[in-house]
Amino acid sequence: MAPEINFNDTEIAFKSKSDGDLSFSIFIFKMMGKPFIVKVGTQLTLLALKLHLPIQGLIRKTIFRQFCGGETIKDCTEPFEFLKSNRIEAILDYSVEGQEREKDLDATQSELLKLIVNAKKYAKDPTTCMKLTGLARFNLLVKTNANEKLSEKETEEYKRFHERVDEICKKAFEEGVKIYIDAEDSWIQDTIDALAEEMMWKYNKERAIVFTTAQLYRHDRLAYLKDLTQRCKNDGIVLGVKLVRGAYMEKERERAKEKKYQDPIQPDRASTDRDYNAALDWVVEHIEHLEVCAGTHNAQSCQHLSAKMKSAGLEKFHPHIYFSQLYGMSDNLSFILASSGYNVSKYLPYGPVKSTLPYLIRRAEENTSVAGQMSKELTLLISEKARRKSLNR
Ligand SMILES: Cc1cc2nc3c(=O)[nH]c(=O)nc-3n(C[C@H](O)[C@H](O)[C@H](O)COP(=O)(O)OP(=O)(O)OC[C@H]3O[C@@H](n4cnc5c(N)ncnc54)[C@H](O)[C@@H]3O)c2cc1C
Repeated sequence: MAPEINFNDTEIAFKSKSDGDLSFSIFIFKMMGKPFIVKVGTQLTLLALKLHLPIQGLIRKTIFRQFCGGETIKDCTEPFEFLKSNRIEAILDYSVEGQEREKDLDATQSELLKLIVNAKKYAKDPTTCMKLTGLARFNLLVKTNANEKLSEKETEEYKRFHERVDEICKKAFEEGVKIYIDAEDSWIQDTIDALAEEMMWKYNKERAIVFTTAQLYRHDRLAYLKDLTQRCKNDGIVLGVKLVRGAYMEKERERAKEKKYQDPIQPDRASTDRDYNAALDWVVEHIEHLEVCAGTHNAQSCQHLSAKMKSAGLEKFHPHIYFSQLYGMSDNLSFILASSGYNVSKYLPYGPVKSTLPYLIRRAEENTSVAGQMSKELTLLISEKARRKSLNR
């Protein structure tokens, strides 16, 4: 079957980029394509930050510029407006994770509350997202996940964490702003899932406000998605779900090996792809009971979803279905899907340069360790540069 959408039209894909932006992105993706540079660069950056060397300026001008909207909500106004003018909704993503002190966790909560109000100001279908590791100490989540007994102090700490999450979801509900709860490491994910479900049952009675995330690189997630859909349906809850493949594969495999438990990740790439596309089929078949965000940079999965929507007789702009990519990546998918009439959003991360580093490192590693899609991205960028050059001849 011929593909529904032509994702190789570089003129539409990169119309947002000036010649300078294009050369800059080519440079960044070329660097990230080299595993040695990513590995050594990551170690040197972490060391330099530890030693308080003035490296933040360099990060800001390179990888941060490619993948982040800025350091504050205000900095993101320009990319936000630009995406909007191209029919793409920006999902501001406060990329601060790994906080430990209560005052820092409270500060993340305040920022997220501010974000909800701002999202409403800017977007037609306002959406925000959050990582629960920005709102709780990581080891507290590990302990809860393992059903370990908490001390009195930890019980208090957990109560405060729970309040933070509830206050954020309540605000989202009051403002009519959707909130995606990101999925993270499997050894804290049961806790995240339980909380996401609790919030959905509280706030998704009329429409999907709170969204959970399913990582289909885990072999148990398709079954989880199906079970969750059924439970929501039984209780009259509108399921909100973001479908992703998953960003922590190497870490997951290493930990499972080290601690000698069954690897939660699929045996191979083909199994992840199969479950991801099966999950897309499932959500389209149950679309009257749920809302979905397909968070993917995989062109084949986007084609799959678009073909499935068509065969189910759904409109391209069905309000329950969003395609979503990360800022700085796969503009060919985002801009071409949006110009073809689909609902599209892009995560637009922001935050202090130092705090966004774990996010930036994941992007760099993803672009080296995953073969195929990224080299395709670089190929497209280079071919657009050549196309423009040929026009100027
Ligand atoms: C809007 C949005 C939101 C996101 N939110 C989250 C989130 O909440 N949590 C999260 O973890 N990630 C999240 N991600 C990141 C996402 O998981 C990564 O972008 C993803 O790893 C890349 O998958 P892809 O669908 O783009 O496909 P591709 O780039 O085509 O596929 C690569 C992915 O396939 C899987 N894979 C590769 N090789 C194998 C193998 N040998 N065995 C099994 N699986 C394999 C891995 O997941 C790998 O990352 C989000 C991404 C987007 C766009």
